[in-house]
Amino acid sequence: MKYTVSFNCTPEEEKNESLLRNKALKELRKTGVSLTEKDISAFVFRKKSIDARKRDVKLFLRYDVYTGGDTPENDTENVFVPCWKKCDNSAERVLIIGAGPAGLFAALTLLESGIKPVIIERGPETSQRKRDIADISRTGVLNSDSNYCFGEGGAGTFSDGKLFSRSGKRGNITRILQILVFHGADPKILTDAHPHIGTDKLPQIIDNIKKTIINYGGEVLFNTRCIAVCAEAHDTPHGTPAICGIKVVDTRTGAEHVINGEKLILASGHSAPDIYEMIASVDKRALEPKTFAVGVRVEHPREIIDKIQYHGKERGKVLPAAEYRLTAQVQERGVYSFCMCPGGLVVPSASSPDGIVVNGMSPSSRNAYWSNAAIVVECRPEDYAEWGEFTGDPLAGLHFRTAIEQAAKTCATAASTSAKTEPSTADRPLAPNPSTVTNTLNPQTAPAQLLVDFLAGKRSSALPKSSYTPGVTSVNLDEVLPNHVSARLKEGFLAFDKHMKGFICGDALLIAPETRTSTPVRIIRDTKTLESPIIKGLFPAGEGSGYAGGIVSSAMDGENSAKAISRGNAKCQ
Ligand SMILES: Cc1cc2nc3c(=O)[nH]c(=O)nc-3n(C[C@H](O)[C@H](O)[C@H](O)COP(=O)(O)OP(=O)(O)OC[C@H]3O[C@@H](n4cnc5c(N)ncnc54)[C@H](O)[C@@H]3O)c2cc1C
Repeated sequence: MKYTVSFNCTPEEEKNESLLRNKALKELRKTGVSLTEKDISAFVFRKKSIDARKRDVKLFLRYDVYTGGDTPENDTENVFVPCWKKCDNSAERVLIIGAGPAGLFAALTLLESGIKPVIIERGPETSQRKRDIADISRTGVLNSDSNYCFGEGGAGTFSDGKLFSRSGKRGNITRILQILVFHGADPKILTDAHPHIGTDKLPQIIDNIKKTIINYGGEVLFNTRCIAVCAEAHDTPHGTPAICGIKVVDTRTGAEHVINGEKLILASGHSAPDIYEMIASVDKRALEPKTFAVGVRVEHPREIIDKIQYHGKERGKVLPAAEYRLTAQVQERGVYSFCMCPGGLVVPSASSPDGIVVNGMSPSSRNAYWSNAAIVVECRPEDYAEWGEFTGDPLAGLHFRTAIEQAAKTCATAASTSAKTEPSTADRPLAPNPSTVTNTLNPQTAPAQLLVDFLAGKRSSALPKSSYTPGVTSVNLDEVLPNHVSARLKEGFLAFDKHMKGFICGDALLIAPETRTSTPVRIIRDTKTLESPIIKGLFPAGEGSGYAGGIVSSAMDGENSAKAISRGNAKCQ
């Protein structure tokens, strides 16, 4: 028999198991279950969350109490049993564009039905990708097929690896975490309320997932960019197009060829505008504009955030670097924090050399000097309609996004010619050796401004050290961001400071722009079959489809698309 019980304790009590067992027994007695120590055959920790709302920080713990000789080993709910089937070249195959979380988990799920996944990925494997990413910090040279967004593991590989997701209704979050643990993630992610892997651990886990796919007969084609989606008129009264393959280019040799296939899981993420153009050229009706968000990264010394969140107390060794979540409603639009990285770094995550994009990540220890978060403003299609060729143009949001990213680069370059940039000197993973940082402008230098100066509308005369390795330069961010974003951000910050007193301070630095929190385009799909109603055989999945955001929800979305294909096949047989 198993009983699940929750109770709270102080951070100091957490390590005292006999005390925790007594608390659990006491809690169970309240529900009419009277057990003694001797009845317990296993006492298994399941979840932890931290409540720091009050001065005395509390931990909330959940345990499974097994009795009568039962143990977690024979508890099927908690054990992951892989059921991938080996497939050979005679198996049915499905093309997948993108080796991010959506593409990889779609591939694993197809293997469960004996379908052969063929993943087409424009970027290289992680070993090469690490070198290309280091180059961005060192020299600013940005490879448009290998960067923080593109390459093995997608945007998830050098991300923060936060695995918290609210999309429990869309799939089995625990299963995703179990598969990650099966491939090498710390089992702690199964028990933490806000699980986090860390950018230093993710590449190995991604590599192990790829090996599973290949061992079971799947294919992963790296350095292979899709350059056209091939479709032919389908036999319907309206002549709906149907997928018949994709045209790809080998990014190292330039050789092009066509890969045939009638089913395509499009898991290309939201950073590749070219893919949306390809879909639009097959049939623009397959796309629609979508609300997304644009803003900045705010970076504080970690200690400041810890002190605010832990009510001025030292967090010591027991408590983790503090997190926050902030929201405000300003002039009918949401302003909110996103992808908060405690003890993390701001990273250059542009996917094209003509723009600047920032994002955040943390190592598993979350021990960097800074804590950062995106602070973004909701942008609805009507807010960026002027960037489209016609009303409701699905690509308008992409043009709007690109314009901001390019404006950031133009402003940073102009500012840097008149002022010295501030290269980072922090010691951290992927950082350049400080001695190699010169005063020549790194082309990925980002525009930045002190938060207090942003609120006062003046350019900062000096900037503090930042974690952003290519360097930052002082710019009035009103020149980078559209007015409707900039004005709402200012009001949002004032509201946030009321919730987190001290959030606005002389040490808070804004680095811009944060434009990739979600996609500005949705690829329309049927709610049941998950297939495009416009292009037969097209299964949009993951963040780029507009139905998922984040590692876990994109992975679940990939799984769901693969399951929909397997279900469809079963019906046809
Ligand atoms: C720095 C950073 C930190 C992040 N931190 C977190 C976090 O902590 N937690 C979290 O949940 N989310 C985080 N995210 C977001 C998360 O990484 C994404 O939500 C997730 O990776 C989306 O998964 P996906 O598979 O849908 O797409 P992606 O991961 O974007 O993968 C898409 C893949 O498709 C490939 N591709 C694109 N176009 C083509 C083409 N034409 N031909 C072939 N291949 C193509 C790309 O190279 C890429 O590898 C972060 C993102 C970044 C950039």
